[in-house]
Amino acid sequence: MTDGALFAKSDEELVEHYGSPLYVYDLERATAALDDLTGSLPEGTVVYFSFKANPHPEIARALRTSGAPLCRAEISSTGELAAALAAGFDPADILYTGPGKTAGEVESAIDKGVHAFSVESPGDLRRVGRAAAERGTTADCLLRVNAAGAGAATSIRMTGAPSQFGFDGETLPDLMDELRSVPGTRLSGMHLFSLSNAKDEDALVTEFRHTIAAAAEVRDATGLDPALLDIGGGFASPYLRPGTRPVYSGLRAALEDTLDAHFPDWRQGSPRVACESGRYLTGDCGRLVCTVTNVKESRGSTFAVLDAGINTLGGMSGLGRLLPVSVGLDTGTPEDASTETGGWTTANLVGPLCTPGDLLGRNVSVPALRPGDVVTIPNAGAYGMTASLLMFLGRPAPTEVITRGDEVVSASRIHFTRIYE
Ligand SMILES: *Cc1c(COP(=O)(O)O)cnc(C)c1O
Repeated sequence: MTDGALFAKSDEELVEHYGSPLYVYDLERATAALDDLTGSLPEGTVVYFSFKANPHPEIARALRTSGAPLCRAEISSTGELAAALAAGFDPADILYTGPGKTAGEVESAIDKGVHAFSVESPGDLRRVGRAAAERGTTADCLLRVNAAGAGAATSIRMTGAPSQFGFDGETLPDLMDELRSVPGTRLSGMHLFSLSNAKDEDALVTEFRHTIAAAAEVRDATGLDPALLDIGGGFASPYLRPGTRPVYSGLRAALEDTLDAHFPDWRQGSPRVACESGRYLTGDCGRLVCTVTNVKESRGSTFAVLDAGINTLGGMSGLGRLLPVSVGLDTGTPEDASTETGGWTTANLVGPLCTPGDLLGRNVSVPALRPGDVVTIPNAGAYGMTASLLMFLGRPAPTEVITRGDEVVSASRIHFTRIYE
């Protein structure tokens, strides 16, 4: 469904028009984030957009067409591949990652024109090579490296942890002869990704310095001179609470400096440098708008039951895989709350699901809520719906409304209840 020029005045009006709950993603904010990110990286850096954070094709299309020619797609499944192609990405610009690629998905990716893969183990490399060779082609493979810790970093991290991700840096040199001889593959680069959501710019810079130094050590120990050096990410964004995205004013100089020290030809494109980002690019473009369905008191605590829970938002945390969701609302200050509406209070914000795990926020400071009130959770554009337990308890998926500034560009909804065919 598309509403050409409906102008969104308020979240209440959006709920009236499209129902509740709904996600609103603003394309201008996503492209502003991409501008800020490319502006804080050395010129010529490829920015891979990690579809994992938000695979909505219109967001991806806005990033692709925003005027940053080096924005490419980092994907990890056939579903994300479909979204990237729907968003118009050239398959030749797609990087396919992930520790569990199946033969079938690699084959279909190659058939669609993808030729760059991050590979995580000898078996993964052979699987990619087999699919490529059967199709008479050669896949460009980046070796994902789980670095043991660069020399400069040894006081901080002696070794990398055991992981399903990447080749252990310390044993990689012994594997090189085997890896170089896998038919259907060309070892074209390295991929290191060690950090997500860095605490601050210092932490981000420190991690990148380690990463680049570690990549140089791997190059020296293996003789693999990467054509593409993907140094990962860690760019931060506030999540489910008020706040603004950082702008990294010192990052560019720090990266240039570190690259000069370890990869002296990088300014001539050898290697080509790449970074990856999901949350920075899409986190602050989105908000979740939902409605209070019920308010109850229990043993001195207030429970505001929302029509959005872990089936709509950050459900991986509901399973204890990540930190519990804890939302914060941008509702002004207690002084703003008029006494006529019941003043200020704290409430547990819970979802509609039949599990005590469906808790979005404990003792959240809110204006007194009543059934029917519309509640907006800010900074929910990354790892919102895509990381939720969408199927759990079978409620409809939220509508996803795309805006450009005040204008509603489109609204759509996944109809997952039709998947049993
Ligand atoms: C998840 C992931 C990303 C994106 O991380 P963000 O914190 O969203 O920027 C990038 N690269 C890889 C390999 C990932 O697994």
